[in-house]
Amino acid sequence: MTIYEHIMLGVDGALALALHRRFGWQIVAWAGCAAALPDWDGLTLLFGVKAYDAGHRVWGHNLLVAGLSAVILGAVLCHWDLFTRIREALPSSWGGVGRRTLENRVRCSWGSLLVWALVGLAAAYSHLGMDVLFSYGRNLPVWDVPLLWPFSARGLAHPTIRWGDPVPTIIFASGMLAMARWRRATRGIAAVTLVAVAAYVAVSMRT
Ligand SMILES: [Zn+2]
Repeated sequence: MTIYEHIMLGVDGALALALHRRFGWQIVAWAGCAAALPDWDGLTLLFGVKAYDAGHRVWGHNLLVAGLSAVILGAVLCHWDLFTRIREALPSSWGGVGRRTLENRVRCSWGSLLVWALVGLAAAYSHLGMDVLFSYGRNLPVWDVPLLWPFSARGLAHPTIRWGDPVPTIIFASGMLAMARWRRATRGIAAVTLVAVAAYVAVSMRT
């Protein structure tokens, strides 16, 4: 699964659960970021091929680091309302979030802090789950996901869908365009998108 699909999985999950109605657009942004979070270990490429070989799909792709980083970052983002601050620092002409929506700041009670942490955890773990399924490529070996690292280097893989398969991308992109067109039906469209992706995964498992 490419980073775009990981992000959309998180975003659609939050929208399908209607979390935006209770916790604002910020929690949807967080779900998308958290769903891509384990891929931070790909940045090891900046330190050379050796570091990338050792770190990518290892250091961030395990239950311990993915879970902890998502919970801590979720709590920090909620407490300091960082998404709203980032949005406010962007030019007001940027069309992603309207001025009126900006008035909805995150009020980070203990309850919402817990929700932010749990959303982060679920989204980060969705990334690991998808990488287990999308774990092979054309002319490439199967990529194991070392879920129990650093306690065990043994990886898990269930090669179901080829990395870069265009079908999930098309489903997510169609859902995104439909949501932009029919904003009132956002929740339903997000849910249908997730069902369509799940159905494609299920069909791929059988073939
Ligand atoms: Zn990954």
